[in-house]
Amino acid sequence: MEKRRYRNTDEFVSLLGFGCMRLPTREGGTSRDIDKEKTREMIEYARAAGVNYFDTAYMYHEGASEPVIGEILSSFDRKSFNLATKMPLMMLQHEAQVETIFNDQLKKCRVDYFDFYLLHNMNRGLKTAAERFKVYEFLKKKQEEGVIRHLGFSFHDSPAVLKEITGQWDFDFTQIQCNYQDWEEQDAKGQVKILASKGLPIIVMEPVRGGSLATLSESAVEIFKKADPAASPASWALRYAASIPEVLTVLSGMSTLDQVKDNTAILSSFKPLSGAEREVISAALLAYRKSATVPCTACRYCMDCPSGVDIPRNLAIFNGWKITLDKNPATPRFFFDMQYGRMGPEEQSSNCVNCGKCAEKCPQHIDIPRWMGVINTYVREGRLPA
Ligand code: SF4
Ligand code: SF4
Repeated sequence: MEKRRYRNTDEFVSLLGFGCMRLPTREGGTSRDIDKEKTREMIEYARAAGVNYFDTAYMYHEGASEPVIGEILSSFDRKSFNLATKMPLMMLQHEAQVETIFNDQLKKCRVDYFDFYLLHNMNRGLKTAAERFKVYEFLKKKQEEGVIRHLGFSFHDSPAVLKEITGQWDFDFTQIQCNYQDWEEQDAKGQVKILASKGLPIIVMEPVRGGSLATLSESAVEIFKKADPAASPASWALRYAASIPEVLTVLSGMSTLDQVKDNTAILSSFKPLSGAEREVISAALLAYRKSATVPCTACRYCMDCPSGVDIPRNLAIFNGWKITLDKNPATPRFFFDMQYGRMGPEEQSSNCVNCGKCAEKCPQHIDIPRWMGVINTYVREGRLPA
C-alpha cells in the first residue's frame, strides 16, 4: 500500500483510508446494529494490506460506529494506526456540550488521544455554530494538551466559504468531497486549489460518491470496460482521487470484505491516471450524466424527516430506476414498483408535506422536496414531470 508523507514530518498515512460510516449491519437491524465480527474481519484484512487510517464520527451509525471501531482497534498497538473522528457541529446546542461530547468520544473510542480530529461538516451555517460555541478554541486547547495530534475539518460548501474558514482559523488538514463528478459540479477543483495554496493536506471523502460511481449507467460502464476490461468503475474513481498530488488519503466507506479486498488491491498497485485515461473518465461521465440521476450519497444528514419520509431510500430507488431503465426499457417500472411498495406508507415520497427542513441539511444541495414531487408524479402517472 502506498503511503504518503504527512506534511514535512516522518509520519506516513496509507493512501486508502478506512471510512467507518457504512459498516456491515445485521440483517433486519437498524444502522446501529453493526455486525462486529464482519467489521473486525474487514479491519484486520485492511491492516494487513497496509491501511493505517480509520475515519469515524460521533454521528456515524447513529452513535454506534465509534464504540465498535474503538473496541476493534484497541487490540492493536496504538501507534500502529491513525484514528480520526469528528465533533458533530449539527448537534450542538450549548458550549458545555462540546467538552461533554469530546470526553465521551475518548471513552467510546477507548483512546487517550486522537490522531486526526475534525469539526464535522463545516459549511456557512455550521461555521456560525462553531464560532458561537467556541469549538475551535476548545479543540485547539486539546491539541496543546496533546489529546489531539492534528486538527482539521470536513467541508461541504463553496470555495468562497472554504477560503473564509482557512483564513480565519489555523487548521492542519481538510477533508473534502472530491471525485470526478464533483470536480466541476461542486467545484472540488476550486477547493483543491485553495488547499494546495495553503499547503494543507487533503483527505478525500466520497471518492465513489456514496457508491454511485461504482454502479453508473450501462452506457458509462461500457466505456470503462472498453478501455480496460479488468478495471471496475470504482477503481477508476479511486484512482482519480488518488492521482491528486495534494491528497494524503482517500477514504472509502466500505461495507463488505470484498470491497476491502478490491480497494486495497487498487491502491496497493496504484498508478496515477494518464492523460488518455482522464479522457476515458470524461467520456464515461458524459454518458452517466445523460441518465440524469439525483446526486444523493446516502449520508442521511437530511434525516429524520418530521413526516417520516425515508429520503435517501426514495432517492436510491429513483436512481436505481433511472439506471435500469437504460438497461431494460421493456420493463421500466418493475423494480421501482417492487422497491417503492416495500417502504411503509409514511416512508414513501407521497408523505412529503414540502416543509423544506431536509433541504437545508443536505451537503449535496439537493432540492429534496422537488425530487419527492418528481417521484410522486412518477408513482401516480408513470411519467416524469415536464
Ligand atoms: S420537505 Fe418533505 S421530505 Fe423534506 S423534511 Fe419536509 S416532509 Fe420530509
Ligand atoms: S438527500 Fe442529501 S442529505 Fe439526504 S442522504 Fe442524500 S445526500 Fe445526504
